[in-house]
Amino acid sequence: MNIYLIIIVSALLVEFLLNTISGWMDVKNLKTSLPSEFEGFYSRKKYVNSQEYLKVNTRFSIMTSFINLLVLLVVIFIGGFNFVDIYIRSFGFSPLVNGLIFFGILFLLQDILSTPFSVYHTFVIEERFGFNKTTPNTYLVDKLKSYALLLILGGGVLSLVLSLFENMGEYAWLLVWVVLAAFSVILQPLFTAFIAPLFNRFTPLEKGDLRNEITRFAKKVDFPVERIDVMDGSLRSSKANAYFSGIGKKKRIALYDTLIAEHSNKELLAIVAHEIGHYKKGHIIQGIIISIIQTGFMLFMFSLFINNVKLFQAFQMESLSVYGSLMFFSLLYSPLQMGLSIVNNYISRKNEFEADNFARENTGSGKELISGLKKLTVNNLGNLTPHPLTVFLNFSHPPVLERIRTLK
Ligand SMILES: [Zn+2]
Repeated sequence: MNIYLIIIVSALLVEFLLNTISGWMDVKNLKTSLPSEFEGFYSRKKYVNSQEYLKVNTRFSIMTSFINLLVLLVVIFIGGFNFVDIYIRSFGFSPLVNGLIFFGILFLLQDILSTPFSVYHTFVIEERFGFNKTTPNTYLVDKLKSYALLLILGGGVLSLVLSLFENMGEYAWLLVWVVLAAFSVILQPLFTAFIAPLFNRFTPLEKGDLRNEITRFAKKVDFPVERIDVMDGSLRSSKANAYFSGIGKKKRIALYDTLIAEHSNKELLAIVAHEIGHYKKGHIIQGIIISIIQTGFMLFMFSLFINNVKLFQAFQMESLSVYGSLMFFSLLYSPLQMGLSIVNNYISRKNEFEADNFARENTGSGKELISGLKKLTVNNLGNLTPHPLTVFLNFSHPPVLERIRTLK
């Protein structure tokens, strides 16, 4: 049997098994007694409800990843990628256009497969637990907007990447690296200025105590805020969050309307302080640098596998191509990708503690952040007792009880 096929199939199976085991451990790890920190926050009924929410979501996610795995294995073993490739080649387009159509078709097939699950998740599961605020109309319009964005941004970047690899020879990966690095730097400002407003309305936070407190705090810790906005997160879900954007001198803070509705000004300030902490401790720049380094490594590895005959044989392909190389390499790379994501999650959890600590030091005490975190967790029916394996594999944030205990 083909060595690459063995690596790819085993990696897919291992990843599925690990996630299934970790989900199952989470469910087994549920405690009937409420941790004392959450007394007065989680009512008995709501706590039971949060556990039911975890169980339903775990079952759902195991089922969807099982079906995805099954479909991918069938496609691999019947030589499905080759059928698609032969069909595309029959039109006689250039390799670049073939590549765009190839990924376009794969995306469409994947989207057709996943949409029923996503609809079920939003309109049945989230609805049942009272989170869903999305109307079928919003859902449809969101989808159309995402397609348009993908076509413009994804299509643009993909064309550039494919044509560089087609035409620039041995060192194409270095040029692609520069392109993707530049893209990762402009993506956030692009997101803030153009993409996010396509999906949500941002209105300046009204004048008053909250605005004054945030402005005063930002000045105190020397953080240049250009805008403080309220985002209509309630358009889609009752879950709450806050986020920041902008680099350099133009920072923006966006608070979900659902967050403001549930928290006191002091708690909101503590949450904002945590987010500012990420900037102050250099986590944003660190994240961009790590991602650029990892991208460079991946592109270099990819350059070694372009038009690798054995890799194409694993997928029963009749013709070589750059786009095929890209597709099959991404599957071959997935075990390494999983390892890197575990490392990234570890760094991210460490950063969360640092940002919490920044908030604690600069708001006087950790008390407000603690009660803010508790309310957020309860509002989102968060799991208080995730299994360490799940935390290790998938958590970008530490379990909330760990954060609370560290803040104390
Ligand atoms: Zn954070």
